[in-house]
Amino acid sequence: MTSDSATPAVPEPPDELGAHVSAAGGVWKAPARAQEIGARVFQLFTKAPSRWEDPVLSPDAAVRYRAEAERVGASFVVVHDSYLINLASPDPVLQRKSAECFRRELERAATLGLDAVVTHPGNATDGDKASGIARNAEAVAWALEAADGPRVLLELTAGAGTSVGGSFEELAEVLRQVPTPQRDRVGVCFDTCHAWVAGYDLRGDFEGVVARMDDTFGADRIGLFHLNDAKTPFGSRRDRHEHIGQGTIGLAPFRRLMNSERFRRVPKLLETPKGRDAVASDRENLRILRALRSA
Ligand SMILES: [Zn+2]
Ligand SMILES: [Zn+2]
Repeated sequence: MTSDSATPAVPEPPDELGAHVSAAGGVWKAPARAQEIGARVFQLFTKAPSRWEDPVLSPDAAVRYRAEAERVGASFVVVHDSYLINLASPDPVLQRKSAECFRRELERAATLGLDAVVTHPGNATDGDKASGIARNAEAVAWALEAADGPRVLLELTAGAGTSVGGSFEELAEVLRQVPTPQRDRVGVCFDTCHAWVAGYDLRGDFEGVVARMDDTFGADRIGLFHLNDAKTPFGSRRDRHEHIGQGTIGLAPFRRLMNSERFRRVPKLLETPKGRDAVASDRENLRILRALRSA
């Protein structure tokens, strides 16, 4: 067998690993990019993430996307919400705008048949985190009412400044404040880089970190992992992603995760740097992760 780089290494049976892929040129182009790196699970943006304007998602685009997703055998697909969205904002105008933008993220996800919307809980820029958490929970519940289907995954953040969601306790509090039945559609996205720089010692005390999740929001709430190493030091609260095994986290926690029976079925996506050749970078990081799995 030759190691032809044009041959996608799609594992059989397909596993739970994938990456964030580009939707440049149209959302329907994303599934083929996932296939190219040998993944059936992936994350994408359905709009330019640093602009407020929403694209018109034509029925034709949705049909094309769904056909492509089916063709490549996509098994789990999430959208990452716009970076501008701040559901915890104390500014009522920005908060309202954010909630509406977030709701449209959910509506587009529903139209495309996506599994979940990943969201950063936002910033309580006035320093009043309790109120920020309450505003976030209210907006999440409101948006979920508008769109059947996709779940919301609250991403653990690096915990910098006034950001909400940089601790397990804060995520648990958002979850607690989302009323039933909407709460059943809310889970957690655990980003390894964010956890590490937020001060959760995945390397020295992996089981202890899992136990702390169980004591707060419950680790079974994890609906997705973002697998990223970190360029920045443990506890630094600075969010810079690095290739798997090349950062301050190192391979050991990824080996634990890849061999964890409990989290085996939970989708795991790379958001590592793409470098000059996105396909080659993602393939290499996926290869490293798969190699950590004991046979
Ligand atoms: Zn992430
Ligand atoms: Zn990040």
